Amino acid sequence: MLFGRKKRKPISIPQKQVTEWKYSTCNYCSTGCSIELGLNDKGKVITSRGHAGADVNRGKLCIKGLLEHELFNSSGRGTQPLMRERFHEAFVPASWDKALDHTADKIKEIQNQYGRDSFAVVSTGQLLTEEFYTLGKLVRGCIGTNNYDGNTTLCMASAVSGYKRSFGSDGPPGCYDDFEHTDCLMAFGSNLPEQHPIIYWRLKEAREKRSFPLIVVDPRVTMLAQFADIHLPITPGTDCVLINAMMHVIFKEGLEDRTYLEAHTHGLAELEELINDYDPITAQHICGIDEDTIRHVARLYANAGAAMSIWTMGINQSTHGSDGVSNINNLNLVTGNIGKPGGTSLSITGQCNAMGTREWSSCSGLPGYRLLENPQHRQEVADYWGIDQAFFPEKRGLAETDIFPAIETGQIKGLWLVATNPMTSMPNTSRIRKTLEKLEFLVVQDSYQDVETNQYAHVYFPASVWAEKEGCHTNTERRVNLTRNALPPYAESKSDFWIFNQLAKRFENGHVISFPETAEEAFNEMRELSKGDGRILDISGMTYDKLEEAKGIQWPFREGQMGLKGHSRLYTDGQFQTPDGKANLICVDFVDNNERPDEHYPFWMNSGRVVEHFHTRTRTGKIGNCNKFSPTPYMEMNPDAAEALGIEHQSYIRLASRRGDAVVMVQLTQRVPRDMVFIPFHFHDCVNRLTLGLLDPYSRQPAFKQCAVRVEPVDQLEAARLNAERRAF
Ligand code: SF4
Repeated sequence: MLFGRKKRKPISIPQKQVTEWKYSTCNYCSTGCSIELGLNDKGKVITSRGHAGADVNRGKLCIKGLLEHELFNSSGRGTQPLMRERFHEAFVPASWDKALDHTADKIKEIQNQYGRDSFAVVSTGQLLTEEFYTLGKLVRGCIGTNNYDGNTTLCMASAVSGYKRSFGSDGPPGCYDDFEHTDCLMAFGSNLPEQHPIIYWRLKEAREKRSFPLIVVDPRVTMLAQFADIHLPITPGTDCVLINAMMHVIFKEGLEDRTYLEAHTHGLAELEELINDYDPITAQHICGIDEDTIRHVARLYANAGAAMSIWTMGINQSTHGSDGVSNINNLNLVTGNIGKPGGTSLSITGQCNAMGTREWSSCSGLPGYRLLENPQHRQEVADYWGIDQAFFPEKRGLAETDIFPAIETGQIKGLWLVATNPMTSMPNTSRIRKTLEKLEFLVVQDSYQDVETNQYAHVYFPASVWAEKEGCHTNTERRVNLTRNALPPYAESKSDFWIFNQLAKRFENGHVISFPETAEEAFNEMRELSKGDGRILDISGMTYDKLEEAKGIQWPFREGQMGLKGHSRLYTDGQFQTPDGKANLICVDFVDNNERPDEHYPFWMNSGRVVEHFHTRTRTGKIGNCNKFSPTPYMEMNPDAAEALGIEHQSYIRLASRRGDAVVMVQLTQRVPRDMVFIPFHFHDCVNRLTLGLLDPYSRQPAFKQCAVRVEPVDQLEAARLNAERRAF
């Protein structure tokens, strides 16, 4: 038998009969890559490619983006509305009119019986911005419940809260171009190569052109840590101790930018007093980073001409996530690294349009970063929508993580979930299951009928996906980009925009407020609402055509602004969105409130992403190659810890916490320390059966990454059977 190259067929890319390319923006992560969708002469999307002219991705896509066009006909898509009286009965197909009428009637019935706030709405970070704006109009202006939030509370709430506390407003001040200018980059709990591959590629390219230190703070040796100059394997939950100790060194050695601090900040004296207690000798015993290394990175950061910090869920998903964000902002204010090229505090967002919902959905306030707590803001929006401002509540209601406990206590009786899957994504999912069973009425709106949460729904709305719709996303660096409508909705599904508009017609205020027929008209309303002196979130100069021509524009981009380039950076003049324009230095003291490993549960459990999957695999679990490359829930375990317990590589084990258990396959690796295991968070009935999810007091974001577990043996055949069932998903 002959082996070798002569007998191999060369790899060839099949001839694609593309007759038209449609412009789009990737609908997975917040990098915001521009995609072109290739259609054949029958109007079918048959391929996709990165747009070479887009500044964000310059022709590149990661595996998810490359295969995203396979979504349109993937299995599990919802084909028609479904209804049932009780969740354990079979669904019955319904017309759109019947399903919408019934939903509106049930919402009113619940509100009449128990009060307006007894019906809650939880949305997502994955709709188009115009859809978020329209949902906000419907919920705030027509339904009138104050218990309205997005699943962004699970990923970005701490960043929002930290930015607001430090700078007086949400809005990441930096951009990807900062990689080209920085002299030192510190990444906290962010594994870019797997989470945001194209942002990582931008960083890598910048470092290839011009060397600068990359410092990675992460308890695990992530892929980014493997590429770092310095890896700080911090003890989980102690980032504020490390940052305080760094600031201690910076002030002790006179490396702070005192001129900037005195001109542009409040709270300097209080901060200096607090960090006096965080000398590196003491801090090293809490955060696990030795005193010399703390001093070294503090000097590197402070002495760099420009230094920047990025972070993701390692900071946000913590009991002190908001404090962690504020403390990173402190570090950058102290060193004068805000608003200058290469000097910034850049939160890397999670979902593709988590920024869009923060800006326009009215979840935690009113459109355009307006606050419910501000009477002038309430009046502006009420006037624009044509309703009485007394219809709005005077402060925000419950966050998503407080809505579920409120269902348990009977305060909330009905729930509408839009493109979110709490049965997999929320901590302690056994508790969530019982919670959903208590609801008198649950509506699930999703592109996928087989999404796990739909098991508990009374009404299911099949929604269109991604480029079956038209509208905008805002990415991590405040870049608004466009998705053109490439093809009609699948089967009888409808765009989320259409569903919101139709439901609005069934409420009294839906006949008072104007609901535009097209996404572009809704975008024009948002442009109008964004105008205003000193408003940073200003998109009034943007149009759909300009967005497509520029391949995305960063806000602020004001009416009358020439060219197609928005503002790359915020706060370049040192003026912040606080009443007197000065940033707030926030004192962050260490509070040790996590569940920690002990003799009964001796391992830290950490969770995160793999590159092939997005969130709860509702979509990527159906895409052949994404699922083929990562089909199995697995657990990284240190070989020394495994040897002590007699556990073999690729065997199955049961992981148990005080909440529940999960069966996973073991992957032995030195990427995790002896007292830690790591599990990807994407899989149903897996990591979130174990998590505790204590909440951050400011952002209400759960601490997904810090809890204690133990490892138990499991019947290998039974575990293999369970695993095969999961792969068949
Ligand atoms: Fe899509 Fe993010 Fe991949 Fe870009 S990096 S192709 S935005 S998933």
